[in-house]
Amino acid sequence: MSNKEQTLILAIDQGTTSSRAILFDTAGNITAVRQQELGLTYPHSGWVEQDPEKIWQDTLKVCQDVLQDTPSALEQTVAIGITNQRETTIVWDKLTGKAVYNAIVWQDRRTADYCKALVKQGHASQVQEKTGLLSEPYFSATKIAWILDNVEGVRQRAEAGELLFGTIDSFLLWRLTEGKVHATDASNASRSLLLNIATGQWDEDLLALFNIPQSMLPEVRDNVSDFGTVNKSLLGKSLPINAMIGDQQAALVGQACFEPGMIKSTYGTGCFMLMNLGDQQLASAHRLVTTIAYRLNGKTTYAFEGSIFVAGAAIQWLRDGLAMFEHASESEAMALSIDSNDGVYFVPALTGLGAPYWRPDVRGAIVGLGRDSTSAHIARAALEAQAYQTRDLLEAMNADNQDDKLSVIRADGGLVANKMVCQFLADILQVKIEVPAVTEATAWGAASLAGIGAGVFDGVEDIAGIWAKQYEYQAAISASDADVLYAGWQRAIDGLLKMSAS
Ligand code: ADP
Repeated sequence: MSNKEQTLILAIDQGTTSSRAILFDTAGNITAVRQQELGLTYPHSGWVEQDPEKIWQDTLKVCQDVLQDTPSALEQTVAIGITNQRETTIVWDKLTGKAVYNAIVWQDRRTADYCKALVKQGHASQVQEKTGLLSEPYFSATKIAWILDNVEGVRQRAEAGELLFGTIDSFLLWRLTEGKVHATDASNASRSLLLNIATGQWDEDLLALFNIPQSMLPEVRDNVSDFGTVNKSLLGKSLPINAMIGDQQAALVGQACFEPGMIKSTYGTGCFMLMNLGDQQLASAHRLVTTIAYRLNGKTTYAFEGSIFVAGAAIQWLRDGLAMFEHASESEAMALSIDSNDGVYFVPALTGLGAPYWRPDVRGAIVGLGRDSTSAHIARAALEAQAYQTRDLLEAMNADNQDDKLSVIRADGGLVANKMVCQFLADILQVKIEVPAVTEATAWGAASLAGIGAGVFDGVEDIAGIWAKQYEYQAAISASDADVLYAGWQRAIDGLLKMSAS
């Protein structure tokens, strides 16, 4: 085997919009990337699906291609880590490997009525106590139940033990090991609505509630485990899969947020903010979810998570829906061409409001427009909204966790290229914003855990040692000025919630 300087780790990052294979060296530098865009289909209003065969074939192809990047890439690669879009649900035949239905994507809302009924029947508190989650269609269990109840013959086959369930991590693992391993990791399992996050075991009461046969479920393993080996015939070399972890938890690891109270916030299409809670399984009283951040050597670390559905997607909408500019990056100069928002606020609830409101029925609004308002005001309001939405989450986290007074947020994702957004985050949150040198925090999180599994790193201390800051932003306005600006956002949200009262 090559020495440590020449060692490479392959991260598979299977996301909602693309499947990527990334090679990292042991300092966290990317040496090669291959990517394949992935489409979504919308068979009915609120339904979102993907083709499992395309997910598999694209993933295999990008892995094969990236390992051919240089003559030595294959030789230097020693381990694989998988990170993935979470909650997306696939059910497949144990013998043929063929999926019985398309992948039902996390964004899919076909089980909204099922979830409402669960809440009405009084199950929400039991579900939250055991899983840390809300009874929302976002999570996997009701998607599995839908497949069992709506695809002909499937329930019977599932009960006969012929079918398997998995999120994307399990499905890829099963395919990569040619049907030998049916397993998931604790972080992905904690998004299913079926895992008791205190014990780390599938919960019999919840399986009964959702009417799902236990025989379908994968074995739950630590995030760093021996997940199996990929045969030489698939990738040109026999390679171990040493780590699997859901994408947002992977970013928490990639951002080296290993101490309780540390927060990472990822700004891509949506925004996902996670706070490390250490070994404390706190319950949120402010509609955040409690989730497993990672489980290493049998020890579980928990996190609070706040999910915002629309972050960068609001900038995409200005670009594509309003044709305000050609490139998302132009929004920055536009917003900075004026000194203040002049009272204009944009609540970008284009696909509903996520945490802490959980109102999928609400739609977006721009308020405070005057005769002198211009497109610059709208651009500015869209960028400022990133900070106001984050403050909603931060206030909830602070209220739920009084022990850890936080002073820093580590930010990543496409939007952090926008310096105005980062500065405004620091201003409105009154905390320091740190942007890392390795901006691909999600893929690096999976790669670095695989590195621990392969013995390239000794433990998370090594990953923390590699993390380096590229930029830092400090609040440049006073706390009271921040409060005044934030109060305008709160008024906009209140008005919108009243208007959309269901
Ligand atoms: P994802 O991983 O969810 O596909 P990315 O992390 O690649 O998303 O981020 C892309 C998002 O960030 C897009 O929605 C885009 O509009 C936004 N974005 C990228 N660069 C900028 C920028 N300089 N200013 C504002 N928004 C940006």
